[in-house]
Amino acid sequence: MQSSYKEPNELGYYGEFGGAYIPEMLYPNVEELRVNYLEIIHSASFQEEYKGLLKDYAGRETPLYYASRLSQKYNTNIYLKREDLCHTGAHKVNNTIGQILVAERLGKKRIIAETGAGQHGVATATVCALKGLQCIVYMGEKDIERQAPNVARMKMLGATVVPATSGSRTLKDATNEAIRDWINHPEETFYIIGSVVGPHPYPDMVARFQSVISSEIRTQLKEKTGTELPKAVIACVGGGSNAAGTFYHFLDEPSVDIIAVEAAGCGVHSGKSAATTQLGRPGILHGSKSYVMQTEDGQVVEPHSISAGLDYPGIGPLHANLHATGRGKFLSATDQEALDAAFELARLEGIIPALESAHALAALNKVQFAKEDNVVICLSGRGDKDMDTYMRVMATS
Ligand SMILES: *Cc1c(COP(=O)(O)O)cnc(C)c1O
Repeated sequence: MQSSYKEPNELGYYGEFGGAYIPEMLYPNVEELRVNYLEIIHSASFQEEYKGLLKDYAGRETPLYYASRLSQKYNTNIYLKREDLCHTGAHKVNNTIGQILVAERLGKKRIIAETGAGQHGVATATVCALKGLQCIVYMGEKDIERQAPNVARMKMLGATVVPATSGSRTLKDATNEAIRDWINHPEETFYIIGSVVGPHPYPDMVARFQSVISSEIRTQLKEKTGTELPKAVIACVGGGSNAAGTFYHFLDEPSVDIIAVEAAGCGVHSGKSAATTQLGRPGILHGSKSYVMQTEDGQVVEPHSISAGLDYPGIGPLHANLHATGRGKFLSATDQEALDAAFELARLEGIIPALESAHALAALNKVQFAKEDNVVICLSGRGDKDMDTYMRVMATS
């Protein structure tokens, strides 16, 4: 067993995963960030501003809610960490607030980001408006057509949305465009990455920004139950940022079970899935070594999930290490199981979850807990953005 699962080594490796696999042209940018990020984050002025914005702008701390009817149904004690109540409707803003403050301290005036469904694009456009910084969001042309409300939000917030027209015209093509932009404008540009992925130090930096989730859980659980440590923490994993935040302060507590839920789409082996740890092999994607869904000859496979936020062919290196070492238990939930869990939460607790978060809830049907156990599930986001999908389900059932 290694001493800590939380932090990578000096080169950005969690076990055998991570690192920084980048084109030479990007080396100065990534190196500037690597050399400075910890000192910036630990400085008193950063901490004061970051904590102030989390509280007064994002609406933290978010509640830890004892879900009594859900608990009764599963015969255990279920607590929901309400990231759905954050400004912009999900945990993503914890990270974009942190990164915009780092960008500002590095003197960067131009912010770029990639987005799939538009959630990270909206969270980035939001903090750019907050700071009066230029914001350019790369988004696949196909995603722009599919996600009109988020495109409108980004534009209303003052961002420029640039379509990625190559390849499958989705997230990985948008990421390629953002990297190209960064290479062409290295001096003035900061690239805000939306999950615990990318070259070192991004996975570590994003995990630290999201770790506020588990820090609050420990304090809140202690207030409610007298103990800081639950039996298990459960979160869905796309790239893995809400999961990294939920797990972070429990990773080195061996008594706490770490449970990650990936998207199985139409079924893990259906050919339409995003269950990376079950289908992927070690490889390089977007600047770091991790599990990647790929063909025999290394072509990245197009993933599928009903939830756009989990529709990613990789997984952050922190999670790859949790999987490889057995510290984390990796489950998957199908589109249908997630839908069932979303409707169940709506009817039992009056909370409509994001489809991503519904995958975490679906784990309750896959793991048996004892009556006295305390189980914490991260409700990463709210379901407003998924109402089209929910309406289609109701129309056909
Ligand atoms: C983006 C998103 C996710 C997936 O991203 P992670 O980095 O894996 O957390 C999960 N839930 C919601 C609500 C999201 O918007």
